[in-house]
Amino acid sequence: MSFTKNIVLSFVLVGILLTCGSWGFLIHKTTVQLAVYKLPKQLQPFFYKQMKYLVANAGRADTRRNTDSTEAPRHFIDLEKFGDNAAYAMPFDWDSAQRLYTRDSLLLYGYVPYEIVRMKTKLTEAFRSGVGDSILFYATDLAHYIGDAHVPLHTTENYDGQLSDQKGIHSLWESMIPEILIGNYQLYDKHQATYLQDPAGAIWEAIRSSYMLVPEVLAKEKEVTGKFPTDKKYRMQMRRGKEVRSYTSEFAKAYAAALGSSINEQLLKSANLIADFWFTAWVDAGRPEIGDRFTKMEKKVFKNERKVFERNELLKDSLLLSKKEPPRAAE
Ligand SMILES: [Zn+2]
Repeated sequence: MSFTKNIVLSFVLVGILLTCGSWGFLIHKTTVQLAVYKLPKQLQPFFYKQMKYLVANAGRADTRRNTDSTEAPRHFIDLEKFGDNAAYAMPFDWDSAQRLYTRDSLLLYGYVPYEIVRMKTKLTEAFRSGVGDSILFYATDLAHYIGDAHVPLHTTENYDGQLSDQKGIHSLWESMIPEILIGNYQLYDKHQATYLQDPAGAIWEAIRSSYMLVPEVLAKEKEVTGKFPTDKKYRMQMRRGKEVRSYTSEFAKAYAAALGSSINEQLLKSANLIADFWFTAWVDAGRPEIGDRFTKMEKKVFKNERKVFERNELLKDSLLLSKKEPPRAAE
């Protein structure tokens, strides 16, 4: 292999490492905003007034991976590493999982469903304590991990198509396509926050449906690849002063079309389950009163905004906070 090829390859690797996060920040930010509209009246004022904080920090757990070596396995689970049928066979509680698979395996192959349950307990405690900062902190991180659980490639050892010659598919699915197509997405659905009798069961249900999407996520990329010559599939671009390979937007669009509405649906499911988890933690804490109520004016603003949400016009009316912030240089 020539020297140049080696350089190009290492650039590709750097590119993959840089882009392999979880739902791009855009979607993490979008889902927390949508979740706020789904909350019951008692929770609306507090969460709505803190929406900017929730959106601004929605990607924080990913950023933490740069400084905290224990953070990464909280964002995924490589199900195949836990045996056949792991999505159905793994126990719901952390202690039993540790006994069955060892703590080391869970730290190595990921444990996002268990982290979500842990964060839900933390959020319940925070609601009980009544400390606004803690409520916000845990609500934000809980939302992030729930979002990750809805990304099919966060549930498989072939998380970046590295085992099927499809490297780069991770960020294509979760970042690049939503960035291009969010304007076409349906961001509204009727779901209202619902109490979860079995939060662990609910998150495992989400993990199972994500995992069931994996074969299609990979197969459609292969199918579309067959229709694209390599120079139309990839382009080279500079990122952080380095040349990296990425998909062309034509390829991304063709792949998205082949996938149908599944990315949009996963986005909506994430937002709905986030609202359910926030609400459930609050109910389990004894439904405490939190934060101030709306003033008349604030209530009016909120109601109007909710109507815009119902018409799926948040982006059009410049109310989608994730699209209002300047793009981050590092993404
Ligand atoms: Zn993540």
